Amino acid sequence: MARILLVEDDPPLRAVLFRTLTRAGHTVETASRVAAAAEACRTGAPEILILDLGLPDGDGLEFLASLLPPVRPPSVLVLSARSQESVKVTALDLGADDYLTKPFGTAELLARLRALDRRLHTPPRTAPAASFGEITVDRERSLVTRQGQNVPLTAREYALLLFFLDHPGVLLTTRRILHEVWERDDPELAVYVRVYTARLRRKLERDPRRPRHFVTEIGLGYRFVSGEGE
Ligand code: CA
Repeated sequence: MARILLVEDDPPLRAVLFRTLTRAGHTVETASRVAAAAEACRTGAPEILILDLGLPDGDGLEFLASLLPPVRPPSVLVLSARSQESVKVTALDLGADDYLTKPFGTAELLARLRALDRRLHTPPRTAPAASFGEITVDRERSLVTRQGQNVPLTAREYALLLFFLDHPGVLLTTRRILHEVWERDDPELAVYVRVYTARLRRKLERDPRRPRHFVTEIGLGYRFVSGEGE
C-alpha cells in the first residue's frame, strides 16, 4: 500500500482511477495540472507518482524532467495515449519506472503498481539469496547455481544479472542498463545489452528461445520477471 499522487486531467478517468486505487488500499491524492502536481510533490511526499503526459498547463515529460530529489517521488508510472516508442523511451530515460499506454485495464495498472510497491517496501537485505525458476543466486559468495549445479558467469554477466534482480517487474530501458551496468551512455553500445541478455538467457532460462525471466519489451528494453506473483 503506497501514498500515490495521481496526475490526470480527464475527470472521468481520474475518478475511475481514484476509486480503483483507493479500493486497492492506496492513499491517493489527485491533481489535474502541472502546477498542482508540483505543489503536491513538495508537500505530500508521495511514494508513487502516476503521471499523465498531456496536461492543460504543461507537458508531463517536462514536469518529470524538472522533478529532482528530494521532491521527486521514488517511483513514477507514466500513463499516456502517446504510444510512440520514442516517447516511452524518453519517459523511461527521464526516470519513469514504467509506462502504460491508454487505454489500459485496471488489472494491468494494479499489477504494475504492485511491482513498484514491492520494490519500494522491500528493505535491502544484507546477504540475500535470490531465486527464480531453477536458479539460485548466492550474493554473499557470488555464486549462481541451477538445481545445485554451479553456473559459471563472467563478471559482466553477473553484474547484469544483479541489476535485473534488483529491479523485479520493472521496465528497464536498454540505455539505463547500459548506463548502470556498463557505465556507458553511447547508444551504439546498446548491442552489448542485447548480447549479454541473450547470454543470461542461454545460461539461466529453461528454454532460452522462450524466455520467461529476461523478457524483451520490444523497442523499449527488458523486464526481469522472477515468476513469483507477477
Ligand atoms: Ca491528459
